[in-house]
Amino acid sequence: MRPSLATLLPACAALLLQSGCNTATTPAATTTPAATGVPATHAAPTAPAALRAPGIVSFHGRLRAEKARIVGADGKPVSLAGNSFFWSQWQGQYYTPEVVGWLKTNWRSTIVRAALGVHEEDGYLQHPAENLARVTRVIDAAIAQDLYVIIDWHDHEAHRHTAQAVAFFSDMARRYGHQPHVIYEIFNEPQQVSWAKDVKPYAEQVIAAIRAIDPDNLIIVGSPHWSQDVDVAAADPIKDANVAYALHFYAGTQKQTLRNKAVKAMELGAALFVTEWGPCNADGNGPIDDDSVKQWMAFMREYQLCHCVWSVSTKMETCSIIVPGASPKGGWKDSDLTESGRYAREYIRNWPGDTPQ
Ligand code: MG
Repeated sequence: MRPSLATLLPACAALLLQSGCNTATTPAATTTPAATGVPATHAAPTAPAALRAPGIVSFHGRLRAEKARIVGADGKPVSLAGNSFFWSQWQGQYYTPEVVGWLKTNWRSTIVRAALGVHEEDGYLQHPAENLARVTRVIDAAIAQDLYVIIDWHDHEAHRHTAQAVAFFSDMARRYGHQPHVIYEIFNEPQQVSWAKDVKPYAEQVIAAIRAIDPDNLIIVGSPHWSQDVDVAAADPIKDANVAYALHFYAGTQKQTLRNKAVKAMELGAALFVTEWGPCNADGNGPIDDDSVKQWMAFMREYQLCHCVWSVSTKMETCSIIVPGASPKGGWKDSDLTESGRYAREYIRNWPGDTPQ
């Protein structure tokens, strides 16, 4: 059940006795750092993030896919906005509780996505312990700070790694299946493969393994052509009570044609979840396409979609949100953000939602 304000307030009063509190009645901002020129309403709170619970997950509860929407425990649509981390093997230094806390307080993110790099150089298949440790640090931090967290099998060829994915998600379901914060994303971006012959059979095996342990948390499935063929998946859906389909867009490349496919999928009853988007081209570079982003944001508001911007990374490409040297402990000044980082943060900070933050 979603707690009412009346039930949130006593918890807040108890926390105030310690050092601070932030609920629906208390804005996140507390001070204005003059050096950064950040408006007061966008400033980071001074109270430790852990002390500002209850947060978004206590408010909405476990998510469900229902009638082509993502809904909370009370059956009402939930629209989250937040950040995707980069491939764990290449930007793992940012997989820290402090970065999760900074995204929550400074960006007002309500969801983060831990991207387990699987099959590329130094990924989970080659170095399981290191990559698992990075991802679980983010998952544990998100749970502690009452944020939603996506456990993303970040793999373009997951259908070739079914046994490893089954073992991994069985482990994740055992560790985290009782937590309402956790969402499983089992196949990041299938490429030029078949939904019916490649992706769906893989998904059915992984979902069966998860459901043997965790009967109810939300599972997100990608679709061919970099998670754009949501209409194909929706026409031949997975039989499970709580599945959504990943929709990925990069605004400089994908426009109305992809939105049409998304509408078709939703008309067929599929719930969509934008686990990645970027303001630039699909290769991660090129200029910010402001007109296209505006259209996508209007679309996501209209259909109450959840979304994560790609990504927490210093890689030299447009869609990275931070510059080399940005601290792995967060606390980023505007000069630590890239142009697209500053740009995306405004959308995430100001995302309309019925939230307690
Ligand atoms: Mg569960």
